[in-house]
Amino acid sequence: MEKIDYQKLEKQLKLEKKSCWEIWDDKIKKDAFDFAEGYKSFASEVKTEREAVEEGIKLAEDRGFKNIVKVKLLSTGDKIYAINRDKSLFLAKIGKSGLSQGMKIVMSHIDSPHLDFKINPFYEDENLAFAKTHYYGGIKKYQWPTISLALHGVVYLESGKKINIKIGEKSDEPIFMITDLLPHLDRSIDSGGKAEYHKINGEELNLLLGSLPVDDKKIKEKVKLAILEYLFNKYGIKEDDLASAEIQVVPSEKARDLGFDRSLISAYGQDDKACAYSSLMSFLDAKIIDQTQVCVWTDREEIGSDGNTSTQSLFFESFILDILKLSQNKGGLEEVYHSYNISQAISADTTVAVDPDYKDVYDLRNACRMGFGLAIEKYTGHGGKYEASEASAQFISELRKAFKQDKNIIYQFSGGIGKVDQGRGGTIAKYLANRNIDVIDAGVALFNTHAPLEIVSKADIYCAYLGYKAFYQG
Ligand code: MN
Ligand code: MN
Repeated sequence: MEKIDYQKLEKQLKLEKKSCWEIWDDKIKKDAFDFAEGYKSFASEVKTEREAVEEGIKLAEDRGFKNIVKVKLLSTGDKIYAINRDKSLFLAKIGKSGLSQGMKIVMSHIDSPHLDFKINPFYEDENLAFAKTHYYGGIKKYQWPTISLALHGVVYLESGKKINIKIGEKSDEPIFMITDLLPHLDRSIDSGGKAEYHKINGEELNLLLGSLPVDDKKIKEKVKLAILEYLFNKYGIKEDDLASAEIQVVPSEKARDLGFDRSLISAYGQDDKACAYSSLMSFLDAKIIDQTQVCVWTDREEIGSDGNTSTQSLFFESFILDILKLSQNKGGLEEVYHSYNISQAISADTTVAVDPDYKDVYDLRNACRMGFGLAIEKYTGHGGKYEASEASAQFISELRKAFKQDKNIIYQFSGGIGKVDQGRGGTIAKYLANRNIDVIDAGVALFNTHAPLEIVSKADIYCAYLGYKAFYQG
């Protein structure tokens, strides 16, 4: 009997995961580094959903996209976009068969965890002025004091005039900060005076705004009034205008290369700007096919996708209906739903990479690694797959086929976040699945998810770009 070569057999049969840096040649490594430069400037500039929409429109218009409200007729190859309340962006390239062969959709979210100004934020205490905040999304509160923070947002004055706010990003601008207790005083009597760090609560996330008083002894809150005077002189803002405002407090850091070898990136809001940027770039670069290609940047994901700018909003249906109408197709919702039935989508969202310092929380045999390529989650949810959307075997098979277009697309499969019964996580996938669209989560794996600064691998961002492009064209 012929002896079996088991080493050869192992190579043939066994799943082996390797980092992109081990697989790629120098040319593709350079491509990944080059791609990261565009991403870094995007992540440095764009910190809120409004800023993302603005930048997204610019990038799309540069490639010939038109606002759908200015379009009279649509035909194959036409490129359009629609905006919902300045906070979510919908783009489409009309395919050769319109909607009749279904759509190829990649949807990511452009909101990230941050602190919002409360409706009545300003107060004075101990001759200092502060702003009260309300956190948005799943943050670990202790990470937010003592770091440099910037203000981004809009204020609508009583007259209806819109004021854009962005303070704390340029090096000559002031920053803001939430204070923390010094270790010397962070001890409790119960513990015999041992250090026992105080757990910061939501009402303590107050932003220090200034300390100069107005010069009038009769005024009770002199520092607060000085701040109001400054805001009125500079922007025309009065205190009650903050009711019609959205001011977000975000880290004032830029995106930076991380590590001696510069293979990683540190930046705020990479969940989910990393996927938003790479999916838009892949959408803009993908060639026109039979199906209509759709790229969506949605909002409100971090708080459960509720609300009119979220994935659950009917604006998506309204957008597709507009495409039908402008394509002189007489169909209505029925046609949209039939198109959904044969549509495919990627929920482009970040997931977690194995952090060697905290190995206990992962099922290491079913977890994603930093730098190992596009991270694909078959399902999310918690417990016994509660509240999960799960991609079907046949859809995953088609996806694998699409990825064959390019040997440089490295991807890793996983399912669920962390260990069974311990981890939990949700994305927008289920809201597309509930529309009867085939959908799977695929994005980049991060360290420090939801922290003020998150870490991503340049290899993974590039794999996301290549993978989404292959999906659009496949
Ligand atoms: Mn996300
Ligand atoms: Mn998130």
